[in-house]
Amino acid sequence: MAAETLLLVGDELGRYGFPTGHPLGSDRQGAFLASAVAKGLDKRVQVGTPRLATREELQRFHSREHLHWVEIRSRIGEGYLDYGDTPAFPGCYEVASTVAGTAVEGLERIMAGEAVRTFQPIGGLHHARRSRAAGFCVFNDLGVVIDSLRKRFGVARIGYVDIDVHHGDGIYYPYESDPDLIVVDVHEDGNFIFPGTGHAHESGANDAEGTKLNLPLPPGAGDREFFAAWERGLAHLRRFKPQFLILQAGADGLRGDPLADLRYTPAVHARVARDLRKLADEQCQGRLMAFGGGGYELANLAAAWTAVLGELA
Ligand SMILES: [Zn+2]
Repeated sequence: MAAETLLLVGDELGRYGFPTGHPLGSDRQGAFLASAVAKGLDKRVQVGTPRLATREELQRFHSREHLHWVEIRSRIGEGYLDYGDTPAFPGCYEVASTVAGTAVEGLERIMAGEAVRTFQPIGGLHHARRSRAAGFCVFNDLGVVIDSLRKRFGVARIGYVDIDVHHGDGIYYPYESDPDLIVVDVHEDGNFIFPGTGHAHESGANDAEGTKLNLPLPPGAGDREFFAAWERGLAHLRRFKPQFLILQAGADGLRGDPLADLRYTPAVHARVARDLRKLADEQCQGRLMAFGGGGYELANLAAAWTAVLGELA
């Protein structure tokens, strides 16, 4: 029998990165894989390969205008896809489409019963909005998965957990009024870091008031502060009984990340993955998709992501 956990990796995914000197380079998947193989984790999973997203799949979340804009910049191969954080490069449409397409592939494998849970290290691009790129994120694979769950599989109530050091604004705002997207987002306080959002009073709008839990932490916070917040996050998730779980396991909250100021250890990532696996087994028929998200220090992201995979596999 195939292993329950599907690891989604491959050369086409590894190419998601920006030109020399940009903090998000294309060496991140390699750093993770070397560490995962050294720990023997590759032997405990089945491995899935990347694929492009179809236009229809991308349009489940994104506007036609955004796809068209990225397509043009991809052909020109220079300039920016946003206000100056996310450079265009030749073929960036296809590379970004691969991140989303691979996520949909993982989802389809779960829904077909061929895997119970997935981990996709290059993914979790939580700043891209329906109609624009932002913060190193061209297409939002997480949003594409959420809208695929609704439109293709009829799964409405989804638990979304985001432990990236940056607030997941590309998920929070598109679903702010959606009462079935249950959000727990622990991040560095937006008063000190990009994208400046995710304040504690942002708890959902209209019918969705109370379904989102933003838990900002002050600069310098570490495992102790995280675990205190996480107790609240886990209780929030349990209360709303999601049918499917998604984790954005950004590694940029670890001590030493060049873009942020928190001081987690990989124990944070291990604990969250362990708790979500257990919750998924209890309430979601095991169904859990985890994504690597941010992380700009290679040793850190390798340690955090192998901690996640070690718990899931
Ligand atoms: Zn981040």
